[in-house]
Amino acid sequence: MTVKSSNPETIVLHAGHRRDEATKAVAVPIYQTTSYLFDDTDHASNLFALREPGNIYTRMMNPTTDVLERRLAALDGGAAALALASGQTASTFAILNVAQAGDNFVTSTDLYGGTWNLFANTLKQFGIEARFVDPADPQGFVRATDERTRAWYAETLPNPKLQVFPVREVGELAERAGVPLIVDNTAAPVLARPLQHGAHILVYSATKFLGGHGTSIGGAIVDGGTFDWERHATRFPLLTQPDPSYHGAVWTQAAKPLGPVAYVLRARVTLLRDIGAALSPFNAFQIIQGMETLALRMRVHSDNAAAVALFLSKQPKVERVIYPGLQSGEPRRRADALLKHGYGGLVGFELKGGADSGRRFIDSLQMFYHVANIGDARSLAIHPASTTHSQLSAEDQLATGVTPGYVRLSVGIEHIDDILADLTQALDAA
Ligand code: PLP
Repeated sequence: MTVKSSNPETIVLHAGHRRDEATKAVAVPIYQTTSYLFDDTDHASNLFALREPGNIYTRMMNPTTDVLERRLAALDGGAAALALASGQTASTFAILNVAQAGDNFVTSTDLYGGTWNLFANTLKQFGIEARFVDPADPQGFVRATDERTRAWYAETLPNPKLQVFPVREVGELAERAGVPLIVDNTAAPVLARPLQHGAHILVYSATKFLGGHGTSIGGAIVDGGTFDWERHATRFPLLTQPDPSYHGAVWTQAAKPLGPVAYVLRARVTLLRDIGAALSPFNAFQIIQGMETLALRMRVHSDNAAAVALFLSKQPKVERVIYPGLQSGEPRRRADALLKHGYGGLVGFELKGGADSGRRFIDSLQMFYHVANIGDARSLAIHPASTTHSQLSAEDQLATGVTPGYVRLSVGIEHIDDILADLTQALDAA
């Protein structure tokens, strides 16, 4: 029996697993195995030829990871998901799955620093060009697109600017241009459901809110199943032309018996097969455990962050607070259109005293952890200019919204009184 629900609180506990078939275990077992015994040579060759579903080797699939993938796909209303070793792997695969040397993709400038580096430098080594456009103007995506453009890319709730991406507007333009819109929803799981607003594919760092306890690096791609690859076949030869690496399989054809899952199928059986950035079953288990309380945690993260933003906005040493719920005009309209259940756990602010004051503030925190992470159940803080975004030029830092005095908080689920007390004493010292 499977529990049917469209409510995230229920999906994160029940989707993809009722009990273990072999043992009746209720908690998802950790299948810590590399390999799976074939019944006979016919069975083995059928599995390899994708004539029947089943497990071959944990680099490509694993029963523990499978539950995580089903749960994520259900949570976002997608057709299928692929769990991967990290969020960085997820964004790399999301592009490599449709683009090859000579191709390009258009991306929002509002990106995590690591994604920026990946796109601007490492993918360039592969001959794939990232074209950066300001998301304030959705038409910028259209203007930067030509016949070699294979995707558009953005983050739902990009930090540090925390200005919500116009998913519906750009999604409609993407549909018209015949290009899939890929959205990194790392900072807003449950709160935002971009596939319902016109995004075609999601990327997650599961390291953050999904796992939620700072124990495991992981990532995922969720395929909405809504992009019509065959209609735009000349733009997507990797999915619609015979693949020489898989005895001529055409992925849009091969996926037909499984549903609209050509994108995730190809990513799994070619990119994951060849590059091997697999999530370990143990980390899949940890992320599944974290996800069981995801809906609950996102609510508390959002409530606490709202209280922190209000508190900071009244502090004389604070120059400005960056938080979707305090924005006005078009940024606020975009936030309210996408974030239906809270503005998330991230709050940025600038101290009047600039970089020196920012450093003193961070060094004085007693409960907040000074770490390069977001989305932990614990409260976290960082000074992006000297850490996460330090590999970007000063100009590129400003384009992503990092000023010298900017401090980023990932507000945890501790009692709000303790969170405000720690901020108060650190501000006194700043
Ligand atoms: N996307 C976003 C929005 C992130 O914040 C991060 C990491 O900070 C990543 C992707 C990369 O994820 P990972 O660290 O799991 O590789």
